[in-house]
Amino acid sequence: MTFASLGLIEPLQRTLATLGYTAPTPIQTKAIPAVLKGRDLMAAAQTGTGKTAGFALPLLQRLTQQGSRVQSNAVRALILVPTRELAEQLLQSFSSYAQDLPLRTYAVYGGVAINPQMMALRKGTDVLVATPGRLLDLYRQNAVKFDQLQVLVLDEADRMLDLGFADELDQIFAALPKQRQTLLFSATFSSEIRSLSSELLRDPLRIDISPPNTAAKSVRQWIITVDKKRKTELFIHLLRREQWGQVLVFAKTRNSVDQLTESLTAEGFTADAIHGDRPQPSRLRALARFKAAEVQILVATDVAARGLDIDALPLVVNLDLPIVAEDYIHRIGRTGRAGASGEALSLVSADEARQLAAIETLTQQLLKREIEPGFAPVHKVPVTAPGGQLIKKPKKPKKPKEQGRKGKSPIHLGNWFEEK
Ligand code: AMP
Repeated sequence: MTFASLGLIEPLQRTLATLGYTAPTPIQTKAIPAVLKGRDLMAAAQTGTGKTAGFALPLLQRLTQQGSRVQSNAVRALILVPTRELAEQLLQSFSSYAQDLPLRTYAVYGGVAINPQMMALRKGTDVLVATPGRLLDLYRQNAVKFDQLQVLVLDEADRMLDLGFADELDQIFAALPKQRQTLLFSATFSSEIRSLSSELLRDPLRIDISPPNTAAKSVRQWIITVDKKRKTELFIHLLRREQWGQVLVFAKTRNSVDQLTESLTAEGFTADAIHGDRPQPSRLRALARFKAAEVQILVATDVAARGLDIDALPLVVNLDLPIVAEDYIHRIGRTGRAGASGEALSLVSADEARQLAAIETLTQQLLKREIEPGFAPVHKVPVTAPGGQLIKKPKKPKKPKEQGRKGKSPIHLGNWFEEK
């Protein structure tokens, strides 16, 4: 299969060749011809499968071929995403795919000044990537118009709902022309997502690239059981002994992220942190430095778990297990991307047995357990099994600061996500 045989135009084929994309991925093979024909799409695909190019390439081609000039403040294709980081990343993808096309691409999100965004939107935008809250602000101030809108993409729709954006989304949908193409991407398909899709999509093509709730097969996953208070010590011990290269480490709270980053720096490693208390520019800088391999270890809360594309990341370590089992899949999805192999290690303490059981149930597999000599836990992690059984009940884990799920305790999003 080639990109030419999927119907992509010459300038896009040339760009893909320069980017080193030799053949389409499975989702691209299915999505590109359908989107080119103007069909709606409902796709379950993990990040790392090439889903961005799957919708961006045919969408750019259609906009180019239709050729209509974008009017002042108008938008021809709108891509809605849950976080600022994902907005920046998608803008980069769109800009690089559109490098030889006469199209203007731009991204808007909260947490930064709105005036430069208003100025930039005046010229009109062919592809606008946006987070919902900031887009609504701009719409209310007449900085964006949707009369010319032809395509709406919802990327990581499940995450947008998890973050409580349902109301903003409804207000945006009400402002869009009914005649349009709509593409919906979600890692998991809850009943909320299904009802959203039945409202928004017309006779959509359904694409299910990997069964929902399974992690990429190319990722080797295992756990080391250890006492909670010795996790940092064990991580540093493994880092030295295994001579790991770049590692993305997830910890539960902003405090634990900062503490680990400090310990690593004190031990002579280069490490940086991203979490909700850090201002946006320093988070973007930390990510850029990690991507450029200027720092070896990036420590993050779950806000970094979704959507971030870091080339060839070999290893993800969970210093703490996530409270929401789905986040485990997103965390380890940072490795083993685009066919590369990867490793995901979790350091698990006795109080996390319930989370471990939930992850094993969701992923339908028992994670291989190891004990590191010298770090055998005094508090044994109860035996778990997919299905959620625990032989012995552990103490309830403490609630983390940065988790929030619709319908449960109040959502505390910090200032990582856009201000509403
Ligand atoms: P995504 O799932 O869209 O986040 O894409 C994951 C990674 O795969 C990105 O770094 C893309 O640049 C890369 N990628 C997407 N499609 C291809 C392809 N056909 N060949 C090689 N790399 C690709």
